[in-house]
Formats: sequence, C-alpha cells, structure tokens
Amino acid sequence: MLRMTFRNYIGGRWADSVSGKLFENRNPADRTDLIGVFQESTPADAADAIAAAGRAYPSWRQVPAPRRAEILFRAAQLIAERKEDFARDMTREMGKVLDETRGDVQEAIDMTYFMAGEGRRLYGQTVPSELPNKFAMSVRQPIGVCAVITPWNFPMAIPSWKIIPALVCGNTVVFKPATLTPLSAVNFVKVLEEAGVPPGVVNLVTGGSEVGTLLSTHQDVSVVSFTGSTAVGRLVNQNAADSFKKVHLEMGGKNVIMIMDDAQLELAVEGCLWGGFGTSGQRCTAASRVVVHEKVYDRFVTELVGRAKALRVGDGLDPSIQMGPVVSEAQLATVAQYVEIGCKEGATLLTGGHQLRDGAYASGFFHEPTIFGDVSPTMRIAQEEIFGPVVAVMRSHSLEEAIAIGNNVSYGLSASIYTRDVNKAFTAMRDLYTGIFYVNAPTIGAEVHLPFGGTKATGNGHREAGTAALDVFSEWKSVYVDFSGRLQRAQIDTQEL
Ligand code: NAD
Repeated sequence: MLRMTFRNYIGGRWADSVSGKLFENRNPADRTDLIGVFQESTPADAADAIAAAGRAYPSWRQVPAPRRAEILFRAAQLIAERKEDFARDMTREMGKVLDETRGDVQEAIDMTYFMAGEGRRLYGQTVPSELPNKFAMSVRQPIGVCAVITPWNFPMAIPSWKIIPALVCGNTVVFKPATLTPLSAVNFVKVLEEAGVPPGVVNLVTGGSEVGTLLSTHQDVSVVSFTGSTAVGRLVNQNAADSFKKVHLEMGGKNVIMIMDDAQLELAVEGCLWGGFGTSGQRCTAASRVVVHEKVYDRFVTELVGRAKALRVGDGLDPSIQMGPVVSEAQLATVAQYVEIGCKEGATLLTGGHQLRDGAYASGFFHEPTIFGDVSPTMRIAQEEIFGPVVAVMRSHSLEEAIAIGNNVSYGLSASIYTRDVNKAFTAMRDLYTGIFYVNAPTIGAEVHLPFGGTKATGNGHREAGTAALDVFSEWKSVYVDFSGRLQRAQIDTQEL
C-alpha cells in the first residue's frame, strides 16, 4: 500500500526529523485506514525551528502590517477554496462529522480574514499630554518567536486563532500540533507557504511532549500560546517561568446549561443534544453538565434521553451520521472509566454507557451517547472534565441554586441559561464566573470576533480571538515626543492656570 510521508517545515524547507523516526496517523472510525506517517521530532528539531524563526524575525517585524495582512488575506482565500478537502482530511484523522469539520475550517477562514483586517488597524491610543508641546501615544510592538502548542479537537481552527494574530502583529512562529491531528496542521502550513509567508516566519514541528517541553523552556522563545488539558497547561506554565515567557493558556472545561421552569423545553433539549454530543462531547465548551429546574426535570429528561437514543453514531464521513467516534483508545478508556465512576457514585444511568463494538463499529473507537440523571453536584462526573459523550443531569430548586451549582467547579469556560424571563437571564449572565455565556443557546458556538477563553483552571487571564488576541501577541509601547525644545518634567513642571 502507498504510504504518504509528511515532513516538518523549518526555515522554508520540508524536512525530515533528525530522529529518523515516524509515527502513524490512523482514522479513529476505522483503524485499518492509515492516513499517513509523520515526523517523530526531537528537541533538536524544535531548536532548529526556533533558530529559523529567530532568523526570520528581524525582517518580518519590519514588513508593514498591511502588507503582512495581504499575505494572510490570500491564505484565507486558499483555505476557502480547499474547505471541502480539508474538512474531509480532518474527519478522517479525528472523527468529528463532516458538518463540524467544515465548521472548523470555516472558523480558520473567518479568523484569518478577521485578523488580516487588523493589519490595517492594530489600533493604539493617542492621548493629550499633561505638558505643552508634547505628544503622547501608545503603539503595539511584536514580541519575537511564538511557540504555538495545540490540541486535536479543533485541528485547524485553534492553530489559526494563534498563528494568524501572531503573524499580523509581526512575530514569527514555531507550531507544534497534537500528534493525533498532524495532517490538518500540514494543510494549514502549506496554505501559508503558498500564500507567500516568507521562509522561517512559520515553522512546523510534529511530535509529542518532548517537543512541547523544549518549546516552553527554550530561551529564544518569547511567547508560548497553549491550548490543551489543565494538567499539561500547568506544566507549560512552570516550564516557561524560568525564562519569563509570556504564557497564554486555554485549558479544560466543565460547562453548564441551566434550564429554568419557564424555558422553551424543546429548544433546551436541542441545545443540550448539540452541546453535549457535538464532536462526541470532545469540545472544551461541551455542555457536560445540565442543571434542570425540578418542575420540568422529568419531562426534560424523558425528551433528552429519547433524542440521545435516536442519534446516529458512525463514521463522520457518512452524511447521515450525527455523532462520530471518540478520538483514540485512551479517550475511549477514559469515558469507560467515568461511566463506572458515575454508576459507583450512585447516579442513574439513563441511556448509553457502552462502547459500540459490533459490525460497522468493529474497527473504530465508538461509544454510545450517555446520560446520567440524579447526579449530585459534588460527584466526580459533575466536577471533572471527561471529554467524551457523557452528560450529567442535576436538579435545582431555584435560579440561585442553579447558579451556585454552575459556579462550583474548578473550571470557568462557558455557561448558558434557557429561560424566557429577562431578569433571570441577566442575573445569570452577571453571576456566572465564566469567560463565555449564552442565553437560550448551548455552551458552544463562539464567533471569531469576540474574545474566547475562560476563568479559573480554564485560563490564565488571556483571551484568544477578537482584538483581545492581539494583546497576547504584542506588547504595548508608550511613546512621548517632546517638541518644546526644553526639559519638561512630568508631574513637576505643572503650570498654575
Ligand atoms: P493535551 O494537554 O494532552 O495536549 C495538548 C498539546 O500539548 C498537544 O500538542 C500535546 O502534544 C502537547 N503536550 C503534551 N505534553 C506536553 C508538555 N509536557 N509540554 C508542552 N506540550 C505538551 O490536550 P489534548 O488531549 O490534545 O486536548 C484536550 C484538552 O484540550 C481538553 O482538556 C480540552 O478541554 C482542552 N481544550 C481547551 C480549549 C480552550 O480553548 N479552553 C479548546 C480545545 C481544547
């Protein structure tokens, strides 16, 4: 069988790893389907990429931002032209259904257009000086080499959220994608190359934690932008501390949908189905917790369980399929482990709970959509990120109780409320301590022109997307121009009026 071999991209050349080792990328819906082999890179490869990015930085930072943006506009166009192929590659390598991978690629297109537009803005401030004949302003300046470390669940969208704002601000990049989704990374980097990003400005190194560790410790990396699990994010933060890197972390979530007794119940059921089982529950914003007012609990649960049972699970390349496999054997094992924990903790398994192994499922990592009822907020299935098709349903007696349950987890990414009462909606919007909040929509569905990120163990205070992302990839410089021709001392030489 023909074996496709993919390479690293360093200093404008597609290159083999010095390790001489390769790793396989296989379809989680069908393990017999080998997508290709990729470089199992070493810290030495990552160091080469950092050096290439360092060499490219002095000239790239001097390219006027609107010219940098012209290249990015071309890249957006190319991604749009190849959307269908990229979506198919993505479904094949990580399993989510075609509609969703098309959405993932679309998000990369949207982000690239949006950030390219910023090339003609990158606004700073001009403010009046407190002294006469003095001009005061602030400008954004690039920072240097940015390391971009990404997860597998949004294989093109998340890299675009980081790489494109880094580039428009004038930085250079070393990109390490997740080992489960290297093909989407290659697709994305090839587009950047073709659009005219100069050699060394973007570099790609495939491989695992050793590469990530080098990127987060190397003294010539100025920014690390990481999305992934909270455990690895903590490590990245610690590793980067010695060299005072700017560290941007987007990590886990345990998101909540709150359903009030006045909610439009059918709409809430639809939202929970999409929020809980979209991407097989493997979204950082997945609605893994649902808190339902006791008055509508039974009706809601009956309807949600009926709809979950009817979901068509299978290969995401088949357009009739609604939920694909989970991404890996390890992820499947984690789901099985949490199903067991939920049962032991005394929650009621309302539907699902099993791996699917027969017939068309035999060579993939499929799991039934799973719902637990009678969950208490302190159970592990209500507290810990499972990252699979498992939804925990809880009861509440009031809005206040729902909000307290919503907040009582270590994460703070996304929350939502279903209600027709504007007072309840605004109260919840104010009191949920999360980075994202929805009214009458599930916890997923962010758009690229607003900040994206979370509080507590989800993030470390930065945001991606929107113009907020520019704050990660640039530093402020305040500039004072004194044209008085004499020494003027701020705060001292004040004139009496
Ligand atoms: P992960 O933490 O296992 O891996 C993320 C990336 O870090 C991968 O590229 C991995 O190779 C790399 N890595 C592993 N060890 C490293 C180390 N020691 N140093 C540096 N890098 C290292 O996460 P995952 O399984 O790929 O993704 C799932 C997680 O990502 C979930 O927890 C999910 O909530 C989170 N996520 C968060 C967001 C968000 O915006 N908050 C978005 C998507 C996914």
